[in-house]
Amino acid sequence: MAENKPSVNESPATAPNTGDEPYDVIIIGAGAAGLGVAIAVMHTGIENYLIVDRHEVGASFAAWPAETRFITPSFPSNSIGMLDLNSIAIGISPAFNMRIEHPTGQEFASHLQGIADFFELPVRENTDVKSINKVDDLFHLETDTGTLLAKNVIWSAGEYQYPSLGVFEGSELCRHTSTIGNYTDLEGDDFLIIGGYESGIDAAYHLARNDKNVFVFDQNCPWGEESSDPSIALSTYSFERMRNEKFDNNVELFGETLVEAIVHEEGVYGLTTQDGQTFRSNTQPILANGFDGSHKFVSHLFEQREDGFPSLSEQDESTIVPGMYLCGPSVRHDGHIFCFIFKYRQRFAIVAEAIASSLGYETEEFVSTYREWGMYLDDLSCCGVECMTC
Ligand SMILES: Cc1cc2nc3c(=O)[nH]c(=O)nc-3n(C[C@H](O)[C@H](O)[C@H](O)COP(=O)(O)OP(=O)(O)OC[C@H]3O[C@@H](n4cnc5c(N)ncnc54)[C@H](O)[C@@H]3O)c2cc1C
Repeated sequence: MAENKPSVNESPATAPNTGDEPYDVIIIGAGAAGLGVAIAVMHTGIENYLIVDRHEVGASFAAWPAETRFITPSFPSNSIGMLDLNSIAIGISPAFNMRIEHPTGQEFASHLQGIADFFELPVRENTDVKSINKVDDLFHLETDTGTLLAKNVIWSAGEYQYPSLGVFEGSELCRHTSTIGNYTDLEGDDFLIIGGYESGIDAAYHLARNDKNVFVFDQNCPWGEESSDPSIALSTYSFERMRNEKFDNNVELFGETLVEAIVHEEGVYGLTTQDGQTFRSNTQPILANGFDGSHKFVSHLFEQREDGFPSLSEQDESTIVPGMYLCGPSVRHDGHIFCFIFKYRQRFAIVAEAIASSLGYETEEFVSTYREWGMYLDDLSCCGVECMTC
């Protein structure tokens, strides 16, 4: 997985935590964000840190529907100092490791496990964090296996395990994409999918290939967006799939169409849209409307922006609780959305550097190495430039 093994700070100033004393840092979540920021923390020289996860390393990825693949392509490019788009750490390339351009969730979960093993990351699995509170200078993390203490906490618990559910009348009658093991085994002929961004189009594509009739509803029109930002418009991977003959024949797209309600009467699901259209199906509708995100779980530790996302300092630290940091797809700064790995990974070193500096570590070499790899994004004025078309 590593094309070349990076070396940053080789001489840590602290010993690993062996007992009940506070950790310098506890990272919650052993997904792409948690492991990525853990490696950056390790590279600063900090040794007294811990990663905790309620399940296993890469659990969210492992739970994706079996057919679902990464939309962002992987390509080995480290040799010229450009990281693979799906890499979570400097010197790492999933493409080099797996020889797969668009890995499945299960494949990426195995890749993450390989990274955890390679770097010998201190991961405590099967530890569910139930609450976090700061008392004096220490965070108290109540888990189902006891209390953990930390001087700093990085929240990187992701989105996948916190789906968006009660969004319209009858939405509880639907099945969220995050609960689907695979599309091949789904029974029924006519599928109503609410949500037409990446997950909805992915579901429609797999169902259409299995000769199902699919109706996709979206209050916006993601397939019509002109933006070059994949956080807003569909990916090229999805557009390519939409040109598939079976997608063309079997999928009907309803943009700018808000679903108002779903009812289930005498075994038939009835869907009504705000503009008065009705659709009926014998098959349970699919909710592909995204995720609330785990940041709601720690909302008492962050101020909220108007859009509900946590308000962050320039170091991705809480503006009201010092020592509390956020990493991963919920990071927002002004209009910048960091929802893909190649976006949010560039903030790992910002967080690691802030913590290491506060603990008295020298971080100059660390910052310069991460900057060379394009993994230290401290100037956001360069972001948000749209592509030129000709
Ligand atoms: C279908 C789909 C396709 C996607 N495709 C792409 C893509 O092609 N490219 C891309 O860059 N991004 C893609 N994304 C987005 C990508 O999945 C996210 O960027 C990524 O999962 C976020 O990683 P994470 O580490 O923040 O969260 P996760 O991978 O969800 O990791 C969070 C971890 O935290 C643990 N956890 C949660 N709550 C607690 C708790 N209370 N206590 C302890 N542990 C807890 C979980 O068990 C989990 O292991 C896709 C997302 C989906 C859903």
